[in-house]
Amino acid sequence: AKRNGGNGCALFEAHMDLNAGEQMSLLNDLRQAVARGQLALHYQPKVDGQRGVVHGVEALLRWQHPVRGLVEPDRFITLAERFGLINQLGAWVIEEACRQMAAWAREGLHMRVSINLSVHQLRESDLVQRIAQALQNHAVPASQLLCEITESVAMEDVQETQRVFDDLARVGVFLAIDDFGVGYCSLSYLRQLPAHQLKIDRSFVQDLEQSQDARAVVDAVIRLAHALGLRVVAEGVETAGQSQILLQMGCDELQGFHFARPMPADALLAWARGQQTA
Ligand code: C2E
Ligand code: CA
Ligand code: CA
Ligand code: CA
Repeated sequence: AKRNGGNGCALFEAHMDLNAGEQMSLLNDLRQAVARGQLALHYQPKVDGQRGVVHGVEALLRWQHPVRGLVEPDRFITLAERFGLINQLGAWVIEEACRQMAAWAREGLHMRVSINLSVHQLRESDLVQRIAQALQNHAVPASQLLCEITESVAMEDVQETQRVFDDLARVGVFLAIDDFGVGYCSLSYLRQLPAHQLKIDRSFVQDLEQSQDARAVVDAVIRLAHALGLRVVAEGVETAGQSQILLQMGCDELQGFHFARPMPADALLAWARGQQTA
C-alpha cells in the first residue's frame, strides 16, 4: 500500500536491504574499486528535440562488483560521499570522460559529455585545475565537457558554487543545473550563475500527461530558462506523449528511456553511427 508517497519513504526502502554490516563491506570493496578497474561510465544520449540529432551524452557511473554484479550509483554514491571516497571516484570520472571523448574523436565521433559533480567535489580546492588538466592531457576542447550540478547542491553553498562555476566557465567548460524544480533555487541567484543548461527533473516529466499542474510548471520553467538564455533539457522522458508535450513547449533537448538507455562506450558509438545513417 502506498502511503503519502513521500521521498523519505522511497529513500528508506532503497537502503532497506543492506544492513550496517553489509554497508561496511560494500564500502571496503568500493575503496578497492578504482584500483581494480571495476568502475565504468555508461552514456545516455541527449536528443536535440527540435532537430532530432544527438550531440551530447550524460556519463553515468557504474560499478561492476565481482559478486553483486552491476551496482547502481544510488547505492554507492551516498556511501562514497559519507566516507570521503567521492573525490577519488569523481577524479576517476573526470579522467575517464576526457579519455573517452578523445577515443571517440579518433573514431570520428565528436560527442559532448556531461559529468555529474558532487557537492564534495565543489569544495575540493583543486577541482578546476584537475578538470583543466584532464582536458589538456587528452587534447579535448573545454567546450566539449559539461558539468552537471544539482539545484539543491548549488543552493547548499551559494558563494562556493558561484566561485567554482565562474572558474569553470573561465576554463571554457559548460555548466548545467540538474534536477531543476526539486530544490528552491531563487530566480535572482539562477541569473547570476554562468550556467548553459537547465535540466528539468524527471518527477515533472513523469506527470506531464496526467497533470495540468506539472504542465504549467514545466511550461513556466522552459520560458524562464529561455528568458535567461539557458537551454532546457528534460530528463526521464519515457513515452512518445511526454516527448510531444515537451517539444510543443519548446524544450531543447530530451533524455530518457524513450530514446535510449545509458549504455557502454562501444554501444554508444554503434548507436550514434546508426542514428547518422537512419
Ligand atoms: P541523475 O544525474 O539525475 O541521472 C539520471 C538518472 O536517471 C540516471 O540514473 C539514469 O539512468 C536515469 N534515467 C535516465 N532516463 C530515464 C528514464 O527514462 N526513466 C527512468 N526511470 N530513469 C531514467 P543512474 O545512472 O542510476 O544515476 C542515478 C544518480 O546517480 C544520478 O542522477 C546522479 O545524481 C548520480 N550519479 C551518476 N553518476 C555519477 C557520477 O559520476 N558522479 C556523481 N557524483 N553522481 C553520479
Ligand atoms: Ca545528471
Ligand atoms: Ca538529473
Ligand atoms: Ca533526477
